[in-house]
Amino acid sequence: MTREKPAASGKSTRRGVVQKLESLERAGVTHLPKGRAPAKAALPSEAEDSAPAKIQPEVPKQDSAHAPAKAKPAALAPSDRLAALQVIQREVAACTRCGELASTRTQTVFGVGNPQARLCFVGEAPGADEDRQGEPFVGRAGQLLTKIIEACTLRREDVYILNVLKCRPPGNRTPLPPEVANCRGYLDRQLEIIRPAYICCLGLVASTTLLGVESSMAKLRGKFHEYRGIPVICTYHPAYLLRNPPAKREVWEDMKTLLRQMGIEFDAQK
Ligand code: SF4
Repeated sequence: MTREKPAASGKSTRRGVVQKLESLERAGVTHLPKGRAPAKAALPSEAEDSAPAKIQPEVPKQDSAHAPAKAKPAALAPSDRLAALQVIQREVAACTRCGELASTRTQTVFGVGNPQARLCFVGEAPGADEDRQGEPFVGRAGQLLTKIIEACTLRREDVYILNVLKCRPPGNRTPLPPEVANCRGYLDRQLEIIRPAYICCLGLVASTTLLGVESSMAKLRGKFHEYRGIPVICTYHPAYLLRNPPAKREVWEDMKTLLRQMGIEFDAQK
């Protein structure tokens, strides 16, 4: 018979046993059973005793460094997108996060178009006409956007049009950073539902908000950027084109860049 080698010296083992006994005594234990009884937790209950033993599947330990990356949520079925957008639209209609805008708006302006659009146009904020009608880009700037869309051989109902802000800033002032931050979640959720293949940002506020950069339109336009894996092109806002008609040429150049990438044929002579 081989004797097990003690893990610690006899002196330290003795001290450990004495300490253990003293703590048991303090806990009111006066007798110890002879021999080593199996731990209670390891004994099956009576009911379990008569039932066949259950084999617990072994759960493999997860190596966090090699754990699969959290998958992006699956895209909604086309038929579910409209309903999902309507849920957000109801939230927006009741939103009062921006005190001034909520108290001065006629109504919120959510977005309009095809929930399965390949292309989304993102603008800045509703103006007076939009605030009155509850639809983005319906004033003079909106009519110009419609012409741009048609020049791209598309129709308004083929694309989706939305703004960064859903409420009109009084006097059409530029949105304040806290207002943009307040409304940002709605924009991200709308785009997450629609999942367009391409986004066109109209104006500097939409461009810098979506891309999270500080820059000028001169530096941003003419090339593709990226928002959550979606190619983004930035160009001038139609309202700017009304004040600066020569800039239409540059917008058309940006649109041609976009259309080539989208594989859409257009009249290059325009
Ligand atoms: S702008 Fe957006 S966040 Fe602010 S009150 Fe309107 S809906 Fe709410």
